[in-house]
Amino acid sequence: MISRRFERALVTGGGGFVGSHLCDRLLRDGTEVVCVDDLCTGTTRAIAWLLRHDGFRFLEHDVAGPLPPLDRFDLVAHLASPASPVDYLRLPLETLRTGADGTRHALELARTSSARFLLASTSEVYGDPLEHPQRETYWGNVNPIGPRSVYDEAKRYAEALTAAYHREYGTDVAIARIFNTYGPGMRADDGRMVPTFVRQALAGEPVTVHGDGTQTRSLCYVDDTVDGLLALAASAEHEPVNIGNPDELQVITIADEVRRLAGRGSPVRHVAADPDDPRQRCPDITRARAVLGWSPRTDLTDGLRRTIGWFADADVGDVQSATR
Ligand code: NAD
Repeated sequence: MISRRFERALVTGGGGFVGSHLCDRLLRDGTEVVCVDDLCTGTTRAIAWLLRHDGFRFLEHDVAGPLPPLDRFDLVAHLASPASPVDYLRLPLETLRTGADGTRHALELARTSSARFLLASTSEVYGDPLEHPQRETYWGNVNPIGPRSVYDEAKRYAEALTAAYHREYGTDVAIARIFNTYGPGMRADDGRMVPTFVRQALAGEPVTVHGDGTQTRSLCYVDDTVDGLLALAASAEHEPVNIGNPDELQVITIADEVRRLAGRGSPVRHVAADPDDPRQRCPDITRARAVLGWSPRTDLTDGLRRTIGWFADADVGDVQSATR
């Protein structure tokens, strides 16, 4: 895998799930980190352990507004955005503004700093895909006016803006299309599948599976996702790269594994299928393997065991203690 050390990184959205793990990895690689986050879906509790680190500075700020004067960086990693459907459906206009104005502000900082710019895009740019698994060459199938469009289209616009900065200004950009990621540090109530299953299974409550559970998902453990993001940041790649786990599993299989590992005897309860739920979602990571030498290494049982262990801890404010 490609390795390159950055001196100073700005991480937008560093108070969130993936961003806090990315900040942790950068700090451990000896990079100074400035985290900009307005805490609309993140918490200072999630980064309490980062705040104790000398190389870490936190700025509570909405990136949709102009950034305060900042020093130069050699990496700008733009992760700020509500990311779970519960959050972006609650914050539709904020999500669009963050994808548009927030991305522009982060790109401007990268341009004026001559920094590497890393955009956290998403598999949602593929929408309800008509191609399976999804390769980066697929242009997607997105409803531009549906409720979920605030997220999907914000990310598609963010990709367009990033590509335009590269073409117009020669900004050194990278676009990561992140697929479903899970692990310690997720909010139990963020509505995503893994924390919901884990919360229910640990409480001994029924684990709710939408429909018959034969719809598929591909889950990437957060350490693997962060490895992929850093490999992409360190590379010279400008084209989008899928970062995800191609191991495609039925939702019912994931629910059963969470129940088994939690060991509290929760049953499964099938509830109405969500009409907006894609039937299948699976990355083709041929490009990531070829250009980054990256592929995920954590198997589902191991990743779920670590995630459940973290959620089971009564004081889940300290991600570090659970991930060491
Ligand atoms: P998260 O909600 O845990 O973290 C997002 C962070 O961004 C939060 O701390 C939030 O407060 C912050 N934020 C949002 N809008 C902001 C704004 N205007 N100004 C400053 N801060 C703002 O989400 P996550 O799962 O960590 O996702 C991080 C990034 O990765 C997002 O851009 C998301 O779209 C992308 N992504 C994540 C996944 C996944 O499975 N976790 C999958 C695909 C893409």
